[in-house]
Amino acid sequence: MYYEVHSENIAARSHAPQIAKILRRFVSHGREGAPVAYEEFAAEVLPLFGEDLMILEPTGDSDYRWLHFGREIVRYSGATRLGQRVSGMRPQVARFTICSLDQALAEDRPLYTVHRSSGTVRVALWERLLLPTIAQDGRRFVVAFSRPLQFREDLLNAVLETSPSGIVALRAIRDDLGGIEQVVIVTANQRAADLSGRPDTDLLDTDGRESLPFLSDPSIWQRCVHAMNLQRSDMLETSFTQQGRTLWLRIAIAPLGDGLLLTLTDITDLTVANQTLQLRAATLALEIGRERATRRALSEEIGQREERERELRRLAETDPLTALLNRRSFTEKANAAIAASEADDTDVALIIVDLDHFKQVNDSYGHPAGDAVIRAFADLLLGQFRNEHNLVGRFGGEEFGILLKDCDLGSAAASARQIQDALLTRAMPVSETLALHVTASLGIAARYPGETLASLTARADQALYRAKNEGRNRLGIAAPPEAIAAAA
Ligand code: GH3
Ligand code: MG
Ligand code: MG
Repeated sequence: MYYEVHSENIAARSHAPQIAKILRRFVSHGREGAPVAYEEFAAEVLPLFGEDLMILEPTGDSDYRWLHFGREIVRYSGATRLGQRVSGMRPQVARFTICSLDQALAEDRPLYTVHRSSGTVRVALWERLLLPTIAQDGRRFVVAFSRPLQFREDLLNAVLETSPSGIVALRAIRDDLGGIEQVVIVTANQRAADLSGRPDTDLLDTDGRESLPFLSDPSIWQRCVHAMNLQRSDMLETSFTQQGRTLWLRIAIAPLGDGLLLTLTDITDLTVANQTLQLRAATLALEIGRERATRRALSEEIGQREERERELRRLAETDPLTALLNRRSFTEKANAAIAASEADDTDVALIIVDLDHFKQVNDSYGHPAGDAVIRAFADLLLGQFRNEHNLVGRFGGEEFGILLKDCDLGSAAASARQIQDALLTRAMPVSETLALHVTASLGIAARYPGETLASLTARADQALYRAKNEGRNRLGIAAPPEAIAAAA
């Protein structure tokens, strides 16, 4: 239980103005070292302050009894305790009262106390002035001034008025059948008036549905009716426009007797911040979507560009008539293949093919027929040699080169013979009605360690030249490089 006990600075501490006055009279009754005489002091103060005074006498068994109980004290505490014992009060208050009376008598000086009320409904704190006196017969009496220091309503009002929430208590007025006709506002703080958009109106005793704008919303009213009828709490959020500004309220609904207690919290800032956040999230999602689409378009574009580049590269590398490697790219790739064979110590061989008497084909059947024969022969070579080990190129006109990787002279000669055999059995188709048999001369050279492509090609060329000279439609096997160097 809350209490204070003071023997110093009583006049300054006390709240009721009577305390200082009584204290002055008490002091004036004091004689050097002797306690104040009861009969004289009581006779003086009872007529003046009697309604707020109590007189208590020790019972001799650690208790006190009331000999006087002022009318004002009855008014606040609800009943008189005249003739009763202090030990009959609630235990904590009784203990505190007996202790402070004992102390006043023992110290023989005024005592000022404050304690929390536990029995009275309206009073929150009491203040008391305890004055020890002695009667002529030696009996001790304590004259005590007792007043409420703080009322519960004051506390409640202070809480209501300082609350950041709007608080409204409503009482239901019902018709004969029990239907709710009206809800009257029985308590409302200033904040409630502010949040209702009526800061200057006294909401008390008005119809809640007229004074509180949100209660005119049928769905909110319905929930309030449910809360009252089912005695169940509820919570909702709502918005309404007030002087052109949208106000968001969170309303806690609690049943209170046959009515409601509404607690209103302004959540406008919160809601606006939340909405802004949601808007931002949506914008962000939109931007991310756009960014993704852009990236997708970009990657498609890059893919198409890469495809175009591949196509261009392929076109740059291939001979347009036959789709074989052109001379330049054949040379590039052959050089790379030679470098690789050098690194892993494998063989490389080269076959050069030139069709025999080709001028006659052109002369007899026309240039386009010659083209068709060249194309058909290219297809024949591709059919025979196209794999990752070989390179097939058109050197120009009706002359072709085949680089055979991982291949020695014997295998190369066998491959060359296969070309001749194929030409022997197969005519080159020119049109639907025409196919021509052609022959070819071939030069074959196997690469010597350290030999350049130029040297290898020169040797194969010489072998081809020899085959032509020896009557065409035959193979020429190249001489070793030294022999060529010596001959040159
Ligand atoms: P051989 O090789 O047996 O000595 O006799 P050849 O008639 O084939 O003589 P040569 O190799 O010197 O001549 C090649 C001829 O091929 C010359 C040219 O008219 C023809 N020619 C070159 N390029 C093309 C081409 O792209 N299309 C066609 N239709 N003819 C071509
Ligand atoms: Mg020729
Ligand atoms: Mg030729």
